[in-house]
Amino acid sequence: MNKEILKDISVLYVEDENDVREFTSKLLGSLLKKVYVAQNGLEGLELYKENQNDIDLIISDINMPKMNGLDMCEQIRKINNEMPLVITSAHNDTNFLRKAIEVGVNTYAMKPIDLYQLIESIIKAMEPILLKRKLIELNLSLESKIEQEVSKIKSILDAQDNIIIVTHNENITNVNKKFLDFFEIKDFDDFTSSGKNIFDFFQEEFGFITKEKINKQESWIQYIKDLHEIDRIVKIKNSSNEEKIFAINVDFYENKDNYYVFSLTDITKLKEKSNLLEYQASHDKLTGLFNRNRFDELYSKEIKRAKRYENNLSIILFDIDDFKNVNDNYGHQIGDEVLIEISKILLNNVREPDICVRWGGEEFLILLPQTNLEGAKAVAEKIRVTIIEKPLTEKNLPISASFGVCQMDENDDDFSLISKSDKLLYLAKKSGKNIVIAQ
Ligand code: GH3
Ligand code: MG
Ligand code: MG
Repeated sequence: MNKEILKDISVLYVEDENDVREFTSKLLGSLLKKVYVAQNGLEGLELYKENQNDIDLIISDINMPKMNGLDMCEQIRKINNEMPLVITSAHNDTNFLRKAIEVGVNTYAMKPIDLYQLIESIIKAMEPILLKRKLIELNLSLESKIEQEVSKIKSILDAQDNIIIVTHNENITNVNKKFLDFFEIKDFDDFTSSGKNIFDFFQEEFGFITKEKINKQESWIQYIKDLHEIDRIVKIKNSSNEEKIFAINVDFYENKDNYYVFSLTDITKLKEKSNLLEYQASHDKLTGLFNRNRFDELYSKEIKRAKRYENNLSIILFDIDDFKNVNDNYGHQIGDEVLIEISKILLNNVREPDICVRWGGEEFLILLPQTNLEGAKAVAEKIRVTIIEKPLTEKNLPISASFGVCQMDENDDDFSLISKSDKLLYLAKKSGKNIVIAQ
């Protein structure tokens, strides 16, 4: 006998015989949580109605005045269809038995009552109810555990600095707070009901994943997943027109609900930095013109192109005259200002395909694709005149430059072409400076 079970059970005990009632209720009271006692069916029914939330089981005699036990049980079952019923009776009249089956009595305890047998009957009748209670308790504790785990995972995802989206098949099923914040969406349902997908925010940008590229694919997820890591880069604009660059990482989780977790890492600053480094590696710091490194890359390409298509290609090499004096007389800073001003003059007088290089300290080179000697000479002349006419720096220094201009011919290679322009520049210096010598 499991006494622990009994401690949790409250019963309604209905018996019209005073001695039996007093004796049995006393014994039951010592074993159970609580015993509600009534003297007949009518009183039992009333007592039940008043305490139905607390009563777990009915023990009732059959033959009683006012209302018999089976009629009372029938009424109670109408209120609670699952209420366990234990009947005590001295006789086994078949009519009563039939009625007992109809009412759905769980067990019998024959009179005179054997307490041991009665307790057994109580336990037997209570077993399914207690089992059900245990299951409900277990379910509740499981549910709350799952809820706790889900909220833990959610808080981990929300704490991420990355935008995270979870998809099932092609559909987004979950997003984290960072996602909602960046796209300025109040809640996830707003996003799903908008009919939009994350790739609707991808901007057109060369070398990045774009909406157009995705639209050509059968599966946007598979497409992004299959890309090499370095190509999983997107530019996204949110509703405040804030543009950011993200690297996408895709994790695939294979279970019955195959799902993907996309994390979008903001690499805007990294990209800016890499652009800056790229710029610094290819440009002169003072003037912003291309440096020799970048020139070397562009030069060999232009030579090859000019030879293949038999295009003209010319070079202007020029050097500021007596620049040493500028530094000596006015200081290095004024010298720098002159170099910057001359670079501006240079850029203002060339066409877009022309390549302007800071060749050395105060030497500049311009590579002019599809330009013959005459054209290049004209450009050099314009620059020379502008330098002497334009007031350079606040001090309006009298600055001039000397120019060597030449055109590539069929015998020229990378080296000989530069060397030709260098010789012409030397000649210009020899000829008294502030002059263009073209050959
Ligand atoms: P020439 O007419 O024969 O070219 O005479 P020059 O004085 O211009 O030539 P030189 O080669 O004797 O001197 C070049 C000067 O240019 C010396 C150097 O200090 C100066 N220079 C080179 N790079 C820079 C720079 O970045 N800033 C400044 N301020 N001066 C520079
Ligand atoms: Mg010089
Ligand atoms: Mg020089």
